[in-house]
Amino acid sequence: MEPIPLVHASLGVRELAAVAEVFASGWPAGQGPRGKALEARLAEKYGVGDAVTASNCGAALHLALLALGVEPGDEVIVADYTFPAPAQAVRYVDAVPVFADVRADTGTVAPQAVADLISPRTVGVIAVDTLGIPADYTELQAIADRHGLFVVEDAACAVGATYQGRQAGALAEVSCLSFHGRKGATSGEGGALLARDPRIGADARLRSSFGIGSIFDLGKVVGLPIPEFTEIGYNYKLSDIAAAILQVQLGRIEELLARRDAVAAQYAELLADEELLTLPYVPEDRTHAWQSYVVTLDAGVDRSAVAAELRGQGIGCGQGAWATHVQPVFLSEQRCPVSADLFARNLAIPMHAELTSNQVERVAGALRGAVRAHSAATVSAGGAA
Ligand SMILES: *Cc1c(COP(=O)(O)O)cnc(C)c1O
Repeated sequence: MEPIPLVHASLGVRELAAVAEVFASGWPAGQGPRGKALEARLAEKYGVGDAVTASNCGAALHLALLALGVEPGDEVIVADYTFPAPAQAVRYVDAVPVFADVRADTGTVAPQAVADLISPRTVGVIAVDTLGIPADYTELQAIADRHGLFVVEDAACAVGATYQGRQAGALAEVSCLSFHGRKGATSGEGGALLARDPRIGADARLRSSFGIGSIFDLGKVVGLPIPEFTEIGYNYKLSDIAAAILQVQLGRIEELLARRDAVAAQYAELLADEELLTLPYVPEDRTHAWQSYVVTLDAGVDRSAVAAELRGQGIGCGQGAWATHVQPVFLSEQRCPVSADLFARNLAIPMHAELTSNQVERVAGALRGAVRAHSAATVSAGGAA
């Protein structure tokens, strides 16, 4: 049977044509004309003070924490159930990630958990739009304002999502986007930092190019200005090749999201009555970008057996996100029981803009069959017979 991959990037002839133009221009590196045009477009689209393109979202998170002045030993509260990039970024600046548990229904950080973890050393919060669904920014911002904390939105998965009528990516003073091949808009690898305060953007842009600004710009100045290196910077620039691809992808967000929406709606219709599964929940005040479609299996279902069966039929699947606090690198003694439970029971099934309705039907049927075959109820009934 024809395989159905978990993910598939929608990159086509228009993206290829954009790349060909960059080749012809002779400037494939970062912070050139394509990169600048993309930054201007992102700043306008999101209505922010500045947009800085970056090599990936992990780099954007690092730049955000540097620009916000996080110092070694500071505590930053991070959403626990996520790809663990936020906690990694906190460690890049020798600060301490403090793991906040999440809502059981959305998997996004629980505002009360954040409030309970605030200490005199807390400087900020990184909320995550988990798998594409925005977190509770109204409540989070109110908590942050009471305690003078920053909020960073990790919108890596959420390009195209909305919260209370506003776009994910513009829900906090600093937001970070990912354009990795698994996300809703992609250049293979890529990212961006969006900042309401242009000074944060300027700081991030400078640090993303070894602390000396755009080499492309320097080449155009009359005379021979020689930049001085006054700070340790990084090379976190997005190439102009990637920027050109993203210009095409940004124009396709609505088309691609409509496809993902249709896939999600079809899964919901086909699987709503399956008692061994809980389907993704989308509160009324927000919309999902469907970076992933993740179902929660009943506690009595053997997830590995289900995954093995799906993969055996050529159907891609994965565990969804991670409980960050249990990852060995963080040596944490905290507990986030809801996150740990989602990490144990969640299953991501194929979600991308190229899925056909026949494929969605095949996945739903296979999943239903597999959870029934591998649930404790079935196994014990079988054993008794
Ligand atoms: C994918 C992802 C990242 C990392 O993005 P990269 O662009 O691959 O660095 C960060 N945070 C979250 C929540 C993600 O899902």
